[in-house]
Amino acid sequence: MRQKLAAGNWKMNGLVSDLGMIDTLTSAHPKPSSEVLLCLPATLIAPAVQRFAKAPVSFGGQDCHAETSGAFTGDVSAAMLKDAGATHVILGHSERRTAYDEQDDAVRAKAQAVTAAGLTAIICVGESLEDREAAKTLDLIGGQMSGSIPDEATGGNFVLAYEPIWAIGTGLTPTMDQIAEVHDFMRAQLEDRFGEGIGQSVRLLYGGSVKPANADEIFAVPNVDGALVGGASLKAEDFGGIVKALDAAEG
Ligand code: PEP
Repeated sequence: MRQKLAAGNWKMNGLVSDLGMIDTLTSAHPKPSSEVLLCLPATLIAPAVQRFAKAPVSFGGQDCHAETSGAFTGDVSAAMLKDAGATHVILGHSERRTAYDEQDDAVRAKAQAVTAAGLTAIICVGESLEDREAAKTLDLIGGQMSGSIPDEATGGNFVLAYEPIWAIGTGLTPTMDQIAEVHDFMRAQLEDRFGEGIGQSVRLLYGGSVKPANADEIFAVPNVDGALVGGASLKAEDFGGIVKALDAAEG
């Protein structure tokens, strides 16, 4: 049984004064059956962990350095995120792959650091519109998976998120058949590489313009174990609506 996961990605948004949203969210959804996670700007992790220690929500980072410490001005290590109280770290988000030219081998090294720190890596993969139109989606995702996912991956230390780049922050979403095709492919790839036990235990998230209005149909797609949510995770009502839809989803 894979526990469903609703993961929010606040990106570079939010001040301590915005943490009240989490009070509203957790008061409206005090006992979710799904795991609820908010990946916050690094500055907000420790204050959020302290303030919401008893609430049904955990907190993660959005990136980290592959090294534990050293002369890397401006960077944050997985050990530092753990020290702040994080449980998860998003890695290989398309914004980082694009804006910072992060390649698969860098994502893999970061994932190893996250695992070594005892945290869970949420590794993102996804195609551009150009790739999809050229029918390269599965090839590209297969390549990102073999390049980014470390051999140490298990269902306990790793989550895989399918995030088509063209669906992030655009209001566009793939058809349910397109999501199913990619998620079935990712499941089969994981089983091929890691065996059925680990392959079946890894949670697969869909991300890209998820909102309460489309959450029910996305969560009904086989092999979708939850969502990685950007914009809608900033508003308690929207993220709460997604948590509610996930709790209600079968499977
Ligand atoms: C994201 O940034 O991971 C994301 C899925 O964003 P949005 O939900 O806003 O499309």
